[in-house]
Amino acid sequence: PWEYAPALESRELADLKPNYRMFVGGEFVDGGGQPIKTINPATEEILAEVASADTGDVDRAVAAARRAYDEVWSKLPGKERAKYLFRIARLIQERSRELAVLETLDNGKPIKEARDVDVPTAAAHFFHHAGWADKLDYAGFGPNPKSLGVAAQVIPWNFPLLMLAWKIAPALACGNTVVLKPAETTPLSALVFADICAQAGLPAGVVNIVSGAGDVGAALVGHPGADKVAFTGSTEVGKQIQRTVAGSGKKLTLELGGKAANIVFDDAPLDQTVEGIVNGIFFNQGQVCCAGSRLLVQESVAEELLEKLRARVSTLRVGDPLDKNTDVGAINSAEQLTKITELADGAAAEGAERWSSPCELPERGFFFAPTVFSEVHQSMRIAREEIFGPVLSVLTFRTPDEAIAKANNTPYGLSAGVWSEKGSRILWAAQKLRAGVVWANTFNRFDPTAPFGGYRESGFGREGGRAGLEAYLDV
Ligand code: NAD
Repeated sequence: PWEYAPALESRELADLKPNYRMFVGGEFVDGGGQPIKTINPATEEILAEVASADTGDVDRAVAAARRAYDEVWSKLPGKERAKYLFRIARLIQERSRELAVLETLDNGKPIKEARDVDVPTAAAHFFHHAGWADKLDYAGFGPNPKSLGVAAQVIPWNFPLLMLAWKIAPALACGNTVVLKPAETTPLSALVFADICAQAGLPAGVVNIVSGAGDVGAALVGHPGADKVAFTGSTEVGKQIQRTVAGSGKKLTLELGGKAANIVFDDAPLDQTVEGIVNGIFFNQGQVCCAGSRLLVQESVAEELLEKLRARVSTLRVGDPLDKNTDVGAINSAEQLTKITELADGAAAEGAERWSSPCELPERGFFFAPTVFSEVHQSMRIAREEIFGPVLSVLTFRTPDEAIAKANNTPYGLSAGVWSEKGSRILWAAQKLRAGVVWANTFNRFDPTAPFGGYRESGFGREGGRAGLEAYLDV
């Protein structure tokens, strides 16, 4: 597929609608399912046609991964696996322009985010895990921790390449082989990644990519040949997968939804805080599981902060994701746009005060103006449900205890933010917050050395750091 990639940098040539095939046993193959048409959410134009798997393809992919595990990958010493991971990391860097453009076309995210966050962080995950591959004996799990076998991995559409990296890099570093299914609305970067595996000379079958919709994901995670299941996506599907996997002996990790609180104390530096709030909820159009979708602000500074926030949000440039000045791009699908619109309209009907950026939205494509709701109460749907869009709910609190109580009043527990000049207050809040990640005076920072993951309905297991290795080892 990558011979078309340079063409994708020009929109006229993107009309070529190239075909992308799946990657099974080291070969690019057509699938037995009905091909998927993937569209550019910023223009609603068809971008490419992508092969789709049927259950026979899933069987073949799992069999190829098993063979590669038994015959090659499980026999290689860590330092040899590391070489492949380093090579993949460097190829992601070399092909970063192509990957960033493709990710923006397929997902709708601003090119500056794809270029500065998604692609370099994906490369960083491969570099980081390459470093672990020959040092697992020293990871604290005891000598010779064993790999699990074949990992079945299903990922969502919000960070297609980065979620792939979070899944595949630790799996390979620990000596497992992989069958991964990307989301049906964003399969392209995963298929270019398959080409990178081929280019890196990765032995056939070590990485297999099967594309398709949820039925393909269900066939993959339920496959008796899979030893490990890793899923990132909605809490609803996560629960289904947990039921499917129950009793099978497969090791499972789930990274699901969130409703993060971003807590602003009255001593916070307000201008810096406003930047963090904007990043927390408008990064990737708010389609982030750890998005800071609930702003909890101390009453005494609420009015001043809201005024500054609205002024700043008014300056965000919304529109063409390929324009490198764009701050907020397109929502990934019509379905997601409908969901955001319904939740936002519902909040207004429930009595929350709606303010939207006065920006002009493009006529075509799935766009939603950055929106801030104030006068939000905990009982409102907008304060409880994951919206996965550029919509912030503002609640207030009087005391630190009240802030923590409100922040923890959610079935989720993925992330949180705390803004304060007082280190002791930040450490106190981090202890009290039931969230897998707590950012202090920043938000949405990702680093391969730091474990990421949730509590409660946000799932379990960690990705990244030493803790992330455990998901792919028998320790
Ligand atoms: P989803 O959970 O339906 O899809 C995620 C992935 O799972 C996709 O690859 C999909 O094809 C696959 N899938 C769907 N049904 C499956 C099944 N039964 N078995 C195995 N795999 C299956 O999520 P979505 O439709 O992309 O988004 C719905 C909501 O999920 C969003 O609105 C958002 O709230 C949430 N979400 C969370 C994250 C996250 O990172 N935690 C990411 C994307 C979406």
